[in-house]
Amino acid sequence: MISLLLLLFCQDGAQVFLSEKEAVGRVFDRDMKVVKRDICLPAEVSNAVDRKLGRRVEDRYRLYIGLKNNKVARYAIVTDEVTKTLTMTFIVGVSVKGKVTDVVVMVHREYVGAEVAKRRFLNQFPGKDVEDPIRRNRDMIAIVGATLSCDAAMRGTRKVLSVIQEYLTKRPENVSSLLTASKPVTEQQYVMGTLCSITLYGPRDVAADAFAEIRKWDGILSNYDPESELSRLNKSRSANVSPDFLRFLKESRSFYESSEGAFDITVGGLVSGWGFPKKNYRIPSEGELKQLLDRGLKVEGDRVTLEGAAELDPGAIGKGFALDRAVDVLRAKGITSAFLDFGSTVYALGTPPGEAGWPVAIRDPFQTEEILGTLTLTNEALSTSGDYEKYFELDGRRYCHILDPRSGRPVEGIASVSLLAKTATEADALSTSIFVRGFASAKGACMVVLTGADSPVKMTPAWRNVFHVPSASAPPVGQK
Ligand code: ADP
Ligand code: MG
Repeated sequence: MISLLLLLFCQDGAQVFLSEKEAVGRVFDRDMKVVKRDICLPAEVSNAVDRKLGRRVEDRYRLYIGLKNNKVARYAIVTDEVTKTLTMTFIVGVSVKGKVTDVVVMVHREYVGAEVAKRRFLNQFPGKDVEDPIRRNRDMIAIVGATLSCDAAMRGTRKVLSVIQEYLTKRPENVSSLLTASKPVTEQQYVMGTLCSITLYGPRDVAADAFAEIRKWDGILSNYDPESELSRLNKSRSANVSPDFLRFLKESRSFYESSEGAFDITVGGLVSGWGFPKKNYRIPSEGELKQLLDRGLKVEGDRVTLEGAAELDPGAIGKGFALDRAVDVLRAKGITSAFLDFGSTVYALGTPPGEAGWPVAIRDPFQTEEILGTLTLTNEALSTSGDYEKYFELDGRRYCHILDPRSGRPVEGIASVSLLAKTATEADALSTSIFVRGFASAKGACMVVLTGADSPVKMTPAWRNVFHVPSASAPPVGQK
């Protein structure tokens, strides 16, 4: 009765019996959790299916997996078979034991033969498995006048049984990877002086590989570890450096140049002069500042020399740089969907399956539990430099951890800079340099919050386009 009510006749003669959603509802029990996956059979599986069926069949299918109490209970595949000249679309449900549970016709397109959709015929399928002949006049009775459509249903059911046997039953690792792909894995580690979290769709050990890469760079760039290459150079003042370290220095140098000196990794001595690393805050004397401003960095081949008061501080770029290297690792391992969060700098790889992007929220620098708005990221990085995390106050004046390398003094007048960039390195370095240079230097999608009584927010047009300011009732989202 229901199928008669839903029967729709289309102009070209196609009869739509059930939508895919309705068909899936028919094939799975109400208490099953159903996940949908588009699969593409690897060559060895598709060859095995072809051999078994004695014909070549397609290698792409829409698969549904039904879970009961978190255990796989049933599969279903939506597929097409040619009836006479047109295709018929139907779904075949199969138990984990490999027995047909249901065959339901969704769309029949030929002018004749739609009787195939009748239960009288379809009720013969349940219980059949991949070893059953499922052939007309052998173990199935076809409907007179709908022979070709009935044959198509039988052929298609044998095909589905074979695909499930070869792809899922014989290779259970495919089932688990299809299921883990539905839930992201998250790994968190304390590294580079802060908590880093990596969320990805894929195997957990890939997250561990990404962390190993970040740790490798921490081993090279840390200014807390006296054994890192950077610390050793700070001590020795001149050394032949590794290709990795040289790569980092060259990238840093390019931001120094493009920011006209507002971004400068040789500020380590100044940062210490103000007492930031050890929290022994103080205001350096004029004479001390003058001495600390006299710096230089010379790179000749792989020979690097620190001049004057230069001391390398990776703080404004190291995390972004390490994130990009971790993204390289994820891409090389075939991950297409991940979110890497280093707190002030994040990178979004691809999108979560079926979604537009990774949601993030921007904090209000004056009320850090509140958010200013949200963005959705895809294959891009977001970085925020703020005056609210590391600073000290003296006589009512706030001294923040971002210094103008040219004056040697903490920047004032800006509370935070957030910006989007194609790489985490660029986002990290530019959020710092724009903090120093002010909103006038902002390019691309950037937002600057100024300090002052009314704390005005300035946004570039590109930022305005992607920034979503929530209504008062919207709950905060994201990880930033
Ligand atoms: P966060 O540490 O929150 O990611 P930034 O990326 O802006 O913030 O980096 C700030 C750090 O970089 C400071 O703590 C300091 O160690 C270093 N630094 C401060 N001023 C500069 C500057 N003008 N250029 C490069 N590095 C800086
Ligand atoms: Mg930075």
